[in-house]
Amino acid sequence: MSKTLFLPSTPLDLQAMRAPRYTSYPTALQFCEEVGPTDAIEALRASNDDLVPAPLSLYLHVPFCRSNCFYCGCTRTVTRNQTIMSTYAARLCDELVQRAENLDRDRRTVQVHFGGGTPNHLPDADLERIVGTIRQHYRVVSAVDASLEVDPRLVQANQPAFWRRLGFNRISIGVQDVDPRVQRLINRIQPSEMVAATVDACRDAGFASINFDLVYGLPGQTLDSINATMDFVEQQRPDRVAAFGYAHLPERLPAQRAINRAWLPDPQARFRMRNYIESRLIAAGYVAIGLDHFALPTDTLAQAFAEGTLHRNFQGYTTHAGCDIIGFGVSSISRVGRVFAQNTKALDDYASALERHEWPIERGYRQSDEDRLRERVIMGLMCHRPVDLVNLSRHYQLDAEELFADALDNLHAIAPRTRPLTSCHDGVLEVTEAGRPYLRLIAAQFDAYLNTTPSKSSLAV
Ligand code: SF4
Repeated sequence: MSKTLFLPSTPLDLQAMRAPRYTSYPTALQFCEEVGPTDAIEALRASNDDLVPAPLSLYLHVPFCRSNCFYCGCTRTVTRNQTIMSTYAARLCDELVQRAENLDRDRRTVQVHFGGGTPNHLPDADLERIVGTIRQHYRVVSAVDASLEVDPRLVQANQPAFWRRLGFNRISIGVQDVDPRVQRLINRIQPSEMVAATVDACRDAGFASINFDLVYGLPGQTLDSINATMDFVEQQRPDRVAAFGYAHLPERLPAQRAINRAWLPDPQARFRMRNYIESRLIAAGYVAIGLDHFALPTDTLAQAFAEGTLHRNFQGYTTHAGCDIIGFGVSSISRVGRVFAQNTKALDDYASALERHEWPIERGYRQSDEDRLRERVIMGLMCHRPVDLVNLSRHYQLDAEELFADALDNLHAIAPRTRPLTSCHDGVLEVTEAGRPYLRLIAAQFDAYLNTTPSKSSLAV
């Protein structure tokens, strides 16, 4: 089933509208209580019997932060209570051990990612204990990608070397915007010198890759503040940069109520900011990757993009295609074969499920053949890769060109004839350069579950 999604009249209207980020298809909005722990454990056990079992990617969610950034949409708890954090770390270790019981010991772990929240808010001893549990119960390959998201405001001078000793080789630093006024409005004061010191310490410690997260569309942000931020990025030259658009959803995210809508840049200014960030990064030698990522040509993400092996999952763009993903901690999402499963977001429910020796899953989803076909199209587009509809039709025994006839018509209709967003020749669908800023909206045309009459407030660029 395809349909007319929406027909904005100009590219700016397109940019102002919102669509899912598609870190999965279907998105988590489709997850339901009918798919739960039993389905996930069955999928995990069945995956052991695959001819060549998929490698494992482990995601660990640390939901604690020292203070509240007003723009944030993550699942987190603001606390400085070390007992709460250490108790949670112990539960994470329990969960790691319990999941390992469902997995053959020879399954290779190729990726470990600690996200949050603020993973570096955990006491060092707890981080060490969790990493030790992973090493004891999982077969971690020597070339593992092990990444840690860090808040530079909490980094002690000796910590990057400690993280390297634990085996982390990638670091992701939340930078957002260097302007003090913007930082005040989002309740996240972090002088540039502090971020630069973290970068220096990580380089000295020998991290293979440093990522900066930037955000545009924040309160008080202007092209001047973005200009200063890009000067800083150029000086520091991280291997990767992710530039996310701020989504103002105060109805759903109470912390955002501290942000007055009048302080936000309008859609035109947002669009200019996004384009300015992109032009500065490209001029500085970065490769633009998919929706919102940039990488130096020496970085594996840029190489995967060039080779057409880029992949997208719950952590965003990744070089690790075809992994079974196992999420640990509150709100984390696992994906094994066709089954998605999301852990509960409540700390108490999480702990009590683990005490009962149960996978603390709250809801999930099992993909159909049509979901799989749509997922291949959507993820291919999000990775800015040609999508061969003929091959996909053959593989899934479904007529993709017929299924997507309306979607393809819409794509022609929403762009000027001189600057099409996509091209489709001999059944191969591709996003054009003009289409790159609109990847989410293009991908949304192939989403069977998106409301056919979306409101501007329900969708996000
Ligand atoms: S942006 Fe990061 S540090 Fe700030 S509240 Fe969100 S998760 Fe915590």
